[in-house]
Amino acid sequence: MERYNGWGDKDVVMELPDTAGLLLRQLVGAGVPRRDCPLDEFLKKIPESRLDDHPLISKDPHKRMIHSHGQSLPDWVAMRSGTIGRFVDGVAFVNSEDDIREVIEFCIKNKCAIIPFGGGTSVVGHLSVPESERPVVSVSMKKMNRMLSIDPVSRIAVFEAGIRGPGIEDSLRPHGFTLGHFPQSFEYSSLGGWVVTRSSGQQSAHYGRIEKLFAGGSVITPRGMLEIPVFPASGAGPDIREMILGSEGRMGILSRVAVRISPVPEKDDFFGVFFPSWAEGVRAVREVSGMNLPVSMVRLSNPDETRTNLALASGGAKKILLDGYLKLRGISEESGCMCLFGLTGSRQTAGTGKNQLTMLSAKYGGVWLGTVMGDTWKKNRFRAPYLRNTLWDMGYAVDTLETAVTWDRVTDTMRDIESAIKGALEKAGERVHVFSHLSHVYSSGSSIYTSYIFRLGPTPEETLERWRPMKQAASRAIVENGGTITHQHGIGIDHRDYVEKEKGRLGVDMISSVCRGLDPSETMNPGKLVPPGD
Ligand SMILES: Cc1cc2nc3c(=O)[nH]c(=O)nc-3n(C[C@H](O)[C@H](O)[C@H](O)COP(=O)(O)OP(=O)(O)OC[C@H]3O[C@@H](n4cnc5c(N)ncnc54)[C@H](O)[C@@H]3O)c2cc1C
Repeated sequence: MERYNGWGDKDVVMELPDTAGLLLRQLVGAGVPRRDCPLDEFLKKIPESRLDDHPLISKDPHKRMIHSHGQSLPDWVAMRSGTIGRFVDGVAFVNSEDDIREVIEFCIKNKCAIIPFGGGTSVVGHLSVPESERPVVSVSMKKMNRMLSIDPVSRIAVFEAGIRGPGIEDSLRPHGFTLGHFPQSFEYSSLGGWVVTRSSGQQSAHYGRIEKLFAGGSVITPRGMLEIPVFPASGAGPDIREMILGSEGRMGILSRVAVRISPVPEKDDFFGVFFPSWAEGVRAVREVSGMNLPVSMVRLSNPDETRTNLALASGGAKKILLDGYLKLRGISEESGCMCLFGLTGSRQTAGTGKNQLTMLSAKYGGVWLGTVMGDTWKKNRFRAPYLRNTLWDMGYAVDTLETAVTWDRVTDTMRDIESAIKGALEKAGERVHVFSHLSHVYSSGSSIYTSYIFRLGPTPEETLERWRPMKQAASRAIVENGGTITHQHGIGIDHRDYVEKEKGRLGVDMISSVCRGLDPSETMNPGKLVPPGD
């Protein structure tokens, strides 16, 4: 059963070693656990629904509560403390394209707003309920979770858009194929959600981001069905497929998705390397990004993240052993940077790739640790988010943010983001622990993924008052460095104010006019991506 106020399965708990608690106390101070709002108390706060009855729409308070938030930091504050404030008036559980059409027609006729709901894993406010006189309907895609067809010759599979990561892989595996899209939210996020938020999987260096995997499909808009046929390539004017990518539920409901699939690889291994310093690590991964290696993942942690990961993951004897070995090999605890490489492909290409990577790592002073750390990472690759539950219970909030910049700006941007976050909380007399890694490398640059941990405030409002200046300062640092406001999480509401800086006024007008063209009554997820009425 899914938690009503946190991440994932209620029965999965990620314990932290004692050393982690000690480290956090040293770094940011003692966390004070805050009171969670119990479910029954929460449900009493939900106002009467403003909707007329409809057979496809549930007004059950628990379902309305679950569909009124995602996983952003403000969502977490609201769901843990019971201060969600605004709730959807009903949840439509659609099971077919006809159902979607019917719900959209009902909502237009009754002047309701619609928020499409995939897996509910948005981290930037895509699912926030707008303040509005209009009733709001969440359209859950959960039941639309079937594979509709697979063409092994053209390597195209078609799915209903509500299918989640495990369902996709379970459907493809018996045919010898994989989609290979593994965001960390894989277990809960949906195919439709991935497409409309321009998601990036952990192994996108091999399989490609969702932009590459999304081949076509259908979108049900308030003005009718938009079919996007599958072509190997096309020169027929601007690409409608590209317009749906990143549309965040503003243009309609993605009902069917055709994806490009790959044969299950013979080898899919992850290797750990320690570089003596950040500068050497960056030089190494930059060189990798320009080579034609079968690399599926590159993840270079800065020294702070390296130390934090080791403390959170193991502590104790294992850490002492590893520290001792690395010291012997000339890697210091203060400056060492852990790097994980994924190698994916045939036995032969992966083998050759491994030899080349080992040599390249050695060239930059890297200590090759084989698959030990990589295997642990692979086993826990979808488990790390459970730490957020554990940390919150201990009185600590965790948030993450990300960008991508060209290589000349990578290190400066990372430093500017980290110091902006630190500086913003200092003013409140609090400390924050910030650390980063490069998560997706390209020949032209890299994404930067920053995490920050700080103490919960005495009240939900105070926690938000601590978070907001940090998020704003980091966002400003990103755009001032010429970075994109998001490499993979999307816009939602948290990044909306920074879109114009990136796309220009004319660019924002283009997006708004496509939204208006498909949805003249502003029924679809109003206020997300671009401001309402824009
Ligand atoms: C712990 C954690 C780890 C994460 N890791 C990653 C990661 O590695 N890579 C990454 O890219 N992202 C990651 N994310 C962010 C998030 O998982 C992605 O943005 C994901 O693509 C959202 O998919 P979803 O199905 O949960 O969509 P939701 O959160 O339900 O919705 C997101 C947006 O998409 C719209 N939408 C959903 N389905 C449809 C549809 N069928 N038609 C039209 N609109 C729709 C919604 O209206 C909303 O605007 C992570 C989030 C969490 C909480």
